[in-house]
Amino acid sequence: MAGVVLLSWLAPDSGIDVIPYSQFEKLLADGKIGHVTVTPDALRGVLREALPSGHTSFVTQRVPSDLAAALSTRGVEFSGAPNESGFSRLLSWVLPPLLFVGIWLLASRFMGGGAGGGLGGMMGVGRSKAKLVAETEIKVTFDDVAGVDEAKEELREIVDFLRKPQEFERLGAHIPRGILLVGPPGTGKTLLARAMAGQAGVPFFATNGAEFVEMFVGVGAARVRDLFEQARKLAPCIIFIDELDALGRARGAGPMSGGHDEKEQTLNQLLAEMDGFDRSVAVVILAATNRPEVLDPALLRAGRFDRQVLVDRPDKKGRIDILKIHLKRLTLAPDVSLADIAAQTPGFTGADLANLANEAAVLATRRGAAAIGNADFSAAVERVIAGLEKRSRVLIPRERRIVAYHEMGHALVALALPGADPVTKVSIIPRGIAALGYTIQRPAEDRFLIGRQELEDRMTILLGGRAAELLVNGDASTGATDDLVKATDIARGMVLRFGMDTALGPVAWDTDAGQFLGEQGGFWRPRRYSEETARVIDETVRALLLAAQDRALAILRDNRTQLDTGAADLLAHESLEGKDIPRPKPVIRAAG
Ligand code: ADP
Ligand code: MG
Ligand code: ZN
Repeated sequence: MAGVVLLSWLAPDSGIDVIPYSQFEKLLADGKIGHVTVTPDALRGVLREALPSGHTSFVTQRVPSDLAAALSTRGVEFSGAPNESGFSRLLSWVLPPLLFVGIWLLASRFMGGGAGGGLGGMMGVGRSKAKLVAETEIKVTFDDVAGVDEAKEELREIVDFLRKPQEFERLGAHIPRGILLVGPPGTGKTLLARAMAGQAGVPFFATNGAEFVEMFVGVGAARVRDLFEQARKLAPCIIFIDELDALGRARGAGPMSGGHDEKEQTLNQLLAEMDGFDRSVAVVILAATNRPEVLDPALLRAGRFDRQVLVDRPDKKGRIDILKIHLKRLTLAPDVSLADIAAQTPGFTGADLANLANEAAVLATRRGAAAIGNADFSAAVERVIAGLEKRSRVLIPRERRIVAYHEMGHALVALALPGADPVTKVSIIPRGIAALGYTIQRPAEDRFLIGRQELEDRMTILLGGRAAELLVNGDASTGATDDLVKATDIARGMVLRFGMDTALGPVAWDTDAGQFLGEQGGFWRPRRYSEETARVIDETVRALLLAAQDRALAILRDNRTQLDTGAADLLAHESLEGKDIPRPKPVIRAAG
């Protein structure tokens, strides 16, 4: 009751009356309720005639119906009090009253008391906004997904289950109910989910975590209920929830959690639905996320999304297989080598490769070619990597000279360091928004483990551009900004996460939660070390970067002739292939 009183006090002129539940029941019995929206905790609606206050809109906290029945037979006046989050939810209804009532009245006029209509979906009684329709004739199969063989293998078992659920049931086999596809964007998670449905020949409900979180309260949870209800009727079938993290973020985490009880409710509903499933109902729930670390742990508990399938970036063979799929419909010149394209695209996702195939086709079309050639693919790779070519951007000669030295600095340092990835191209043609020039190193192989020596080499190469500028002009330009950011990231990783500094020891000072799979964590994390340690860390990072810059300076001083010749060549030709770059003297390393 206190909550209700407070509510009325806070919103004296909202145009919405907060009424006791018993009054609502009476109004209902008297046929005075025109329209009502039901949510798990509360009811809101419009009356056919105004209350003594002159208002026709009301909101009331629900009381369980059996209790309500008992109370009303004994003539007790009763009302529900919202719990803390329910209370703020009620507030959020009452505080923007003009808008709310305005839309409401408009809508009820259109809807004539709740029947269908254009706005009916939006204001309807807990029905999904866009009614979820299962897709039934899905043509995509596992053949359309490549480079993720392990994930496919894991999912194949579930396809079998969906095909013959009775058989599994007969033997009492347990089939996972919820499967979480985890991986960076563009690796084919959505595609895999659809392919599963296509492969099993079952209906597919595609939804999105963000979709559940609605502007109006209570709708998200109702949608979840609605979705599962429909799925039960259509079983065997698949429910797919894309971007689960939008919905399933850990409850109460992050600075903004105050306003998110809508999400919480929806999430609770999802958990309840997953728990309430009869084991024999063949509904499989797939979800996808690229940020598993922010998910509410309750989602990952047994019986829920207890199986995680990693959908990672493809390796070289995987890239070849994905290219095969996306090049199937294109006309290729005989000189095109898939292995060659795959070698140029480490780190590309399936979506990047699909984009690459399209870019190459566009380039070939634009030059009026009969078929897409190898050169089109190389150009497309550069485009996809560095953004669109901006030939129109003109540098003044002094700037061009600085960029030429800068890029040649990167290239020569890379070539001088034994074991560094070979340099395939240096260019001072501006690309994209930020890059004034670029140096492409082609990794000889995909790498997963990198040692200290190699990380130091990478920092040295990154600082090679700046070192060349310092050497030639006695001054560095802003052109090295991005290099510095990358080099600093490496140095910080060495110190904070890889335990590579002897003084700081094998301690993970910083875990990379929030940066998993390359995503930036958007929420605040407490620092887990002392002020003193922080200072040592800063100094160590600085020392690592200074050492790298000194090494780069030494290499370029040693190869000053090559630097001058290379920069001049670059100014003359704008871009140089790897073989045309002057050879620096290799750095000799002490053995051991
Ligand atoms: P995600 O859901 O992981 O972000 P998508 O499934 O939406 O990625 O992928 C987008 C598109 O990229 C797909 O429709 C497909 O054309 C292509 N693609 C991505 N991964 C693959 C893959 N493993 N095999 C083939 N095509 C892929
Ligand atoms: Mg997706
Ligand atoms: Zn640079």
